Amino acid sequence: MTPETLVQNPSNPGANFDMAEFDAAVMGTYGRFPIALERGEGCRLWDAQGGEYLDFVAGIATCTLGHAHPALVEAVTQQIQKLHHVSNLYYIPEQGELAKWLVDSSCADRAFFCNSGAEANEGAIKLARKYAHKVLNIDQPVILTANASFHGRTLATITATGQPKYQKNFDPLVPGFYYVPYNDIEALKEAIAHLDSAGKRQVAGILLEPLQGEGGVRPGDASYFQQVRQICDETGILLILDEVQVGMGRTGKQWGYENLGIEPDIFTSAKGLGGGIPIGATLCKSFCDIFQPGDHASTFGGNPFACGAALAVCHTIERDRLLENTTQRGEQLRAGLNAIAQNYPQLIAEVRGWGLINGMELQGETEITSLDIVKAAMTEGLLLVPAGPKVVRFVPPLIVSESEVNRALEALGFAIAKVMKN
Ligand SMILES: *Cc1c(COP(=O)(O)O)cnc(C)c1O
Repeated sequence: MTPETLVQNPSNPGANFDMAEFDAAVMGTYGRFPIALERGEGCRLWDAQGGEYLDFVAGIATCTLGHAHPALVEAVTQQIQKLHHVSNLYYIPEQGELAKWLVDSSCADRAFFCNSGAEANEGAIKLARKYAHKVLNIDQPVILTANASFHGRTLATITATGQPKYQKNFDPLVPGFYYVPYNDIEALKEAIAHLDSAGKRQVAGILLEPLQGEGGVRPGDASYFQQVRQICDETGILLILDEVQVGMGRTGKQWGYENLGIEPDIFTSAKGLGGGIPIGATLCKSFCDIFQPGDHASTFGGNPFACGAALAVCHTIERDRLLENTTQRGEQLRAGLNAIAQNYPQLIAEVRGWGLINGMELQGETEITSLDIVKAAMTEGLLLVPAGPKVVRFVPPLIVSESEVNRALEALGFAIAKVMKN
């Protein structure tokens, strides 16, 4: 989401909240909608004036358990009373327990903890580079990433991100990245052949999202990913998957790659992992033992508080069978969106997604943007988020109920009817 895509001049500031004062003190890196959210419960949020919203944003695919979930409240309350932060100078039992849960639920053997998606991807990039130097004997390793991808806002991760708008004015960028079109196996083969020409190997890793989130909710093609996996197996190139948005159950499977019939060598998680408490993870097969003490670190990474929160998320996903709910509510949501799309073929081009990460793409010819739909939905009490100028994204908490999905569809129907009348 970029600042220019959002509301710039709030015309209806909250009654008890001074937006001008806020804007005077906070850096203007975000275009914000003119509401201030104060309280939440489940999939509902309330603003400073008491206005109620149905939350189909979930902090951008982050509040896995919605708001004020009893399991999360209890876990963080207990943890902060017991011990919230020490340092990785010492063993942290909650960190070990979380790592064990994550490796037991995935193809990975070990986890490293940090605090965000960008940082998790930085860890993956460093790991791939060290692997390239130590195992593949590559001097100047290159990591291939996809056009329209999104990997974060640090210098290395904006470079990895295949969208020039995130890189503009921040050059010089980090060397060692090269872009390919997503879901295009021939282009990938050509890029590898081009970079590895003259008998000198350069390609060390391929970093991809299983489904491109920010880039417009574009699912990966299983046959493409299976061929990428095969190329990696044959060449020793590492397959790195960015699961920051699609992992942790959001697709109805624990990890996004399970939708593609492959396993990565390295993958990253963040957003939904802590259910809104900041935590990220880089997960890897046992070759990550090339990382030795001193190679990588984070002061906050894996502290008892964040790990306690993430454990509550993991255990609640299991106990409350949230993967099943995600699959069922996702099917319900897509069926409803497709029904709306049939009523407005001149507006809506396609509905797509997995589980509870879904996008509604608008027709290229219409002047209506995703932001127009998002703003209209907000006035109907439904929070949505764009994924680019033409795609409306639906990423509710994984606890969303059948009746809440129906209410969201009803609100969206009203919002679209209004937009079409103007
Ligand atoms: C949000 C996101 C990131 C960046 O995560 P931060 O926590 O904002 O650093 C990276 N990759 C993907 C796929 C994302 O959706």
